[in-house]
Amino acid sequence: MTDFSKTKAMFDIPDGMIYLNGNSLGPMPKTAPDAMNRFLMEEWRTELVKGWNTKNWFMQTNSLGDRVGKLIGAAPGSTVVGDTLSIKVFQAVSSAMAMVPDRKVILSDNGNFPTDLYMVEGLIDLKDAGYELRTPNPENVLDNISDEVAVVMITEVDYRTGRKHDMKKIIEKAHAHGAMVVWDLAHSAGAIPVDVADFDTDFAIGCTYKYLNAGPGGPAFLYVAPRLIDTVVPTLTGWFGHEAPFAFDLNYKPIAGKIDRMRVGTPSIASFALLDAALDVWDHVDIHDVRARSIELSELLIREVEARCPGVKFAGMRDPQERGSQVSFRFEHGYALMQALIARNVVGDFRMPDVIRFGVTPLFIGEEEILNAVEIMEDILRNEIWKEDRFQVRSAVT
Ligand SMILES: *Cc1c(COP(=O)(O)O)cnc(C)c1O
Repeated sequence: MTDFSKTKAMFDIPDGMIYLNGNSLGPMPKTAPDAMNRFLMEEWRTELVKGWNTKNWFMQTNSLGDRVGKLIGAAPGSTVVGDTLSIKVFQAVSSAMAMVPDRKVILSDNGNFPTDLYMVEGLIDLKDAGYELRTPNPENVLDNISDEVAVVMITEVDYRTGRKHDMKKIIEKAHAHGAMVVWDLAHSAGAIPVDVADFDTDFAIGCTYKYLNAGPGGPAFLYVAPRLIDTVVPTLTGWFGHEAPFAFDLNYKPIAGKIDRMRVGTPSIASFALLDAALDVWDHVDIHDVRARSIELSELLIREVEARCPGVKFAGMRDPQERGSQVSFRFEHGYALMQALIARNVVGDFRMPDVIRFGVTPLFIGEEEILNAVEIMEDILRNEIWKEDRFQVRSAVT
């Protein structure tokens, strides 16, 4: 059984802050400063270029990939880390497209995170070969899977409402129709149990700075089903995926039989140090305990807000099995309400047009934080504190 008082003590959260935004950017593990300092002082400073060998920088894409892989049900040797999630969307979808060359439809949904859709739009323009991106409502994805579809690209948990897709059904139907699947785990990894091998997805991608707490801009990850690793077509053909990077051949030749072919170029080793420290927390955690606790806390948050916060409407799925680990509400003046909450040290975030979001992250959030947050929200609403001018001004990042 996971000891959540122990995991909470592993994070350095400012005194008095109730941090309900771990779904957007996880908090700093207490070990992060030492890990970064060790990287600087005992690796970069002392080893310089030798560090690629002596500190194994060259293969951290894979060793950290395996550590992330363990959290998503991936076998060793099937996951690599590096780059950003937007890049991984491009990489996975373009590889999948190359593996079903006779089809021209990419299927996603209109609840997907915009960058996933933007990257596919750019890819389609670049290929200029008659591809089409279809974005039905999330509840209609299954019905839109047909023999026309080359790639089904789905983010499991909707970033606005927390709505969770039934990935098993989607993957089964996609495969029955000969389509490839790219499963985006941005709001799943570290939030809900995920088993990429059991569900037999072709590709899975995600980021590490949300529920995995690797820090802003932490590396993304890419999983390829072991059955595809020999044949997967690398499309971002960088030298880190070459069969002999240090032969400096004039022509690209992907390394055979290894996930390494999906590596691109020199990764940020400093960000790897933070990811490594953040993953240590997960050695003490059973994701099934996290899920059970997240549901308990989410139900408490919904119940309390509905009972005490006039005008704030729950905006997600009622059945907790159909939600990820975030709870969203609608309020006409959602932006101002969130600014007023943040001013009182209750940190969530806002998504257009009127959605306020709270990430429920049991590693460092418990009942007390939920109840205190709702009490503050009730006060802000009953006393109309959100109407103050200073809460109406929009920042660049909401
Ligand atoms: C957070 C998130 C991203 C972010 O992509 P970056 O390249 O890391 O900025 C992409 N897709 C989804 C589904 C996300 O939730």
